[in-house]
Amino acid sequence: MIIVMRPDATADDIAAVAARLESIGAEPHVSEGQLRTVIGAVGDREEIRSVPWEAFSGVERAVAVIRPFKFVSREFQPEPTIVDVGGVKVGGGNFAPIAGPCAVETREQLFTSAEAVANAGATILRGDAFKPRTSPYSFQGHGEAGLEMLAAAREEFGMPFVAEVVDPRDVELVCSYADLIRVGTRNMANFTLLSELGRQTKPVMLKRGFTATIEEWLNAAEYIYKEGNHDVILCERGIRTFETATRNTLDIAAVPVVKQVSHLPIIVDPSHSGGQRSLVAPLTLAGVAAGADGFMVDVHHDPETALVDGPQAILPGEFADLMDDVRAVAHALGSTL
Ligand code: PEP
Ligand code: MN
Repeated sequence: MIIVMRPDATADDIAAVAARLESIGAEPHVSEGQLRTVIGAVGDREEIRSVPWEAFSGVERAVAVIRPFKFVSREFQPEPTIVDVGGVKVGGGNFAPIAGPCAVETREQLFTSAEAVANAGATILRGDAFKPRTSPYSFQGHGEAGLEMLAAAREEFGMPFVAEVVDPRDVELVCSYADLIRVGTRNMANFTLLSELGRQTKPVMLKRGFTATIEEWLNAAEYIYKEGNHDVILCERGIRTFETATRNTLDIAAVPVVKQVSHLPIIVDPSHSGGQRSLVAPLTLAGVAAGADGFMVDVHHDPETALVDGPQAILPGEFADLMDDVRAVAHALGSTL
């Protein structure tokens, strides 16, 4: 149940609703919006429904939530969430180009890509120190040494960075370095990891599981939100379909669907969905045209030597050209980067 307060509801009105919820053993989650306060009620559904909420002073309406997720829904918060990533805003009209190597390999490799993407207009750097690989024999990342190199690149080029955390035991470590913590597609349903991230102060980028429905993905976001971390960015990274021409199918429709049902920002990852360099630009532009709040791409100065995902990495020059096209599409839609 979501209890929507009237714009003129007083602090006492809100406190009375919260107190009544507590008295029946339910948890009130108060969200103060620009116009009105909304109270999410978590607890026994029947018990909550038995209270005549609309008879309370200051209550405009009580809405039963039909969807399984509550806090990440538009009903709970009509206005878009704007996430602050180390000073860079994402969502609510703030567009984020995120780029960098898939994995941190060497300082030279990271710095070459970071400098190029910063000069071309990326606002957030990507690079991983922990790589979850399909094969246990593939390069798994440099761990803390990789995070140190990313922190040095942040200093040098003045851009915050996003890095993946794979194991709940590394959450503290990754949070102590990165500005935005990424949950990869393979971990979208790792609820222990999600809940742990929900108790952190760093924002989280939650990738869609490659076999997850949009509803399952939003439920995963709810795990993070519910623990108190409200800074969640969703990332559509492609789903497994019967199509074999691409690594995964970038579900462009997920962008407007998520925007309709959720207030969280959503970006697209054309690199890990398409899996091919030649598809990165068209898929990025499709995502921008569909209304994404940003995109994230793999950039490598020498993809032939890349330890991870070389075939899908674009060159620094290609990234600069892509940024020009992204600006043109955004301009055509009446927005600027
Ligand atoms: C990545 O972004 O580097 C990555 C591993 O992506 P995904 O989890 O979507 O496969
Ligand atoms: Mn990758």
